[in-house]
Amino acid sequence: MTTIPAPPLRVLHAAAEIFPLVKTGGLADVVGALPQALAAAGADIRLLLPGLPAILDAVSRPRKIFEGGSLFGAARITLRLGRFKDGIKGCDVRAYVLDAPWLYARSGGPYQGPDGRPWDDNLQRFALLGWAAAHLAAGELDPAWRPDILHAHDWHAALGCSYLRAHPGAHARSIFTIHNLAYQGLFAQDDFAALGLPQRFMRPDGLEFHGQLSFMKGGLAHADRLTTVSPTYAREITTPEFGCGVEGVLSARAADLSGILNGVDYSHWDPSTDPALPAHYDPQDLTGKAACKAALQREFGLTTDTASPVIAVVSRLSEQKGLDLALAALPELLAEGAQFAILGSGDAALERAFAEAAAAHPGRVGVRIGYDETLAHRVIAGADLILVPSRFEPCGLTQLYGMRYGTLPLVRRVGGLADTVDRSTGFLFDAAEPAALAEAARHAILTLRDPLRRRAMQQQAMSRDHGWPAAAQQYLSLYRALMGRQP
Ligand code: ADP
Repeated sequence: MTTIPAPPLRVLHAAAEIFPLVKTGGLADVVGALPQALAAAGADIRLLLPGLPAILDAVSRPRKIFEGGSLFGAARITLRLGRFKDGIKGCDVRAYVLDAPWLYARSGGPYQGPDGRPWDDNLQRFALLGWAAAHLAAGELDPAWRPDILHAHDWHAALGCSYLRAHPGAHARSIFTIHNLAYQGLFAQDDFAALGLPQRFMRPDGLEFHGQLSFMKGGLAHADRLTTVSPTYAREITTPEFGCGVEGVLSARAADLSGILNGVDYSHWDPSTDPALPAHYDPQDLTGKAACKAALQREFGLTTDTASPVIAVVSRLSEQKGLDLALAALPELLAEGAQFAILGSGDAALERAFAEAAAAHPGRVGVRIGYDETLAHRVIAGADLILVPSRFEPCGLTQLYGMRYGTLPLVRRVGGLADTVDRSTGFLFDAAEPAALAEAARHAILTLRDPLRRRAMQQQAMSRDHGWPAAAQQYLSLYRALMGRQP
């Protein structure tokens, strides 16, 4: 008897960011790489994205799939389907793009205007994303492609799970992935009426959150399965310390919640081919790394001293990332002979404090305020240590980049940092205190001075595989389990 193979699973990924077109953090890296890895593993994957200018411009020969109007304040909404133009790495799967000029055709960030304040109509902008995700999943917007699963990412797409739950005729299942629980998409309770969801959804077991309306809770309450981006963060967020006020909801759903570590796109992060670097290297021959270090020291105005360990930071400057701890520990680490290369942007007080540290320690502390993808590669390649002292960290990517580049991570033992760094590949500390950071850094600096230990750790770190294929297999297992298919 011949068995007929099951058709590939159809999965729609809905998200607000995609690398390299729109990126504010690790979410974009995931959305730029995971769908492709899933497609490579045999799944039938499509994306749904808001028609932000950079995204709309990048779709080649988009086909009109659906046209509607008068939704969430937009007079005209056109759903287009296309592929991204050649040369845009990491997004080779087909994407539905919501062309809704009233909501998306504007300059500024995906969530904030040029003045740094959230867009006034974020409720409408991301309700539309969720609405379209659910109606695509229900087969109503594109009857030619009906997904088995809606996979919604972060609060921006979370309402997709609520609309799907409310839809009387939908059969698709849903997965909601938390990339960062600290950003929940909170709005005034009175705005609920604008969503067109059943009134019963505005209760504490739905979208209601302490008198507000929470998009994130739509995902938490209404998705069939919940995931986050590391096993440790999956456990942490069920506790008051990390649960951002929704730990009760997450504990209640603990059986549906799992953690799958993010991957790294090694076609983009490979020190033997990286076009951003002045020299290349691999685990067998690290001589090119010394050239990268010298170039980084020059670029950041640091003394070109091979013996001084360069500690790098590539990060959003926010409370989450614990960089105030690094600032407090700075004098002690400079006294140990360390240099600092910092690339980051965000919180104005932290930006100012790092700029002041650079002015106070010329040749020892170099700072670039801003967001610069290419420079991030050079910083990570040229440094000896990559510092990630986060207060909480869902997964973290820069420690993984550092490992592949032989730049040993110096991290706080939380979330995905605890899951990806161990004593054979990096340095860890526990307390969110400058003294704990300084002690781990001193130990790291001592270790780096021993060439054999250093080399052994670099080889371990560089050979760790955190590629997307393994992560994609875990998502596929989850999809199959959700659909009741054989693993
Ligand atoms: P988060 O998503 O919390 O910001 P992650 O470590 O998951 O943290 O992802 C951050 C991503 O953004 C990484 O790809 C990192 O290299 C990049 N990044 C952060 N800050 C900068 C910056 N100032 N310039 C360039 N890339 C940056």
